[in-house]
Amino acid sequence: MGILDNAKEVANAVHEIKNIELYGRVLDLNAGIMDLVEENRKLHAENEDLKKTLQLREKMTFNEPFYYQEGDKTPFCPACWELKNFPIHLLFVAAREDSTHWNCPVCHNPYSDRKDRSVMEIHRSEPPPGSAWG
Ligand SMILES: [Zn+2]
Repeated sequence: MGILDNAKEVANAVHEIKNIELYGRVLDLNAGIMDLVEENRKLHAENEDLKKTLQLREKMTFNEPFYYQEGDKTPFCPACWELKNFPIHLLFVAAREDSTHWNCPVCHNPYSDRKDRSVMEIHRSEPPPGSAWG
C-alpha cells in the first residue's frame, strides 16, 4: 500500500471515531504528505533531466564554431546549446567555395563557417605592409 492510500485509510479510521480535532490534524497531515509526495516527484523529474543534460554535455565536443557529437557529422547550434542546453542540429543551407552556411531551426541564427581558417590567421598575425607595427 502506498503512503497516500495509507494516510487516507488513517483519516477514514479517525473520522469514524468522531474526534473532530484529531480528524482535522490528520487531514492537515495528509495534505502535508501530498505536498511532500508531489515535491519528491518534481525533484525526481528534475534529477533525471540534470542527469540527461550531464550525459549529453559529456558527448558534446566544441570544434569552433560548432558543437559536435561523436559519430554525427551534423553540427549543433552553439547558441542553443550554450544558453539553454538544447541540442539542436543546424540545417544545412549552402556550401560556397570558401565557406559553408547553416541555420538554426530554433533560434534562427544564421551561421557561416570558413573552410580555410589560415586566411584569417595570416591577416590577424601579420601587420599590413607599411604600417608602424613592424
Ligand atoms: Zn539555435
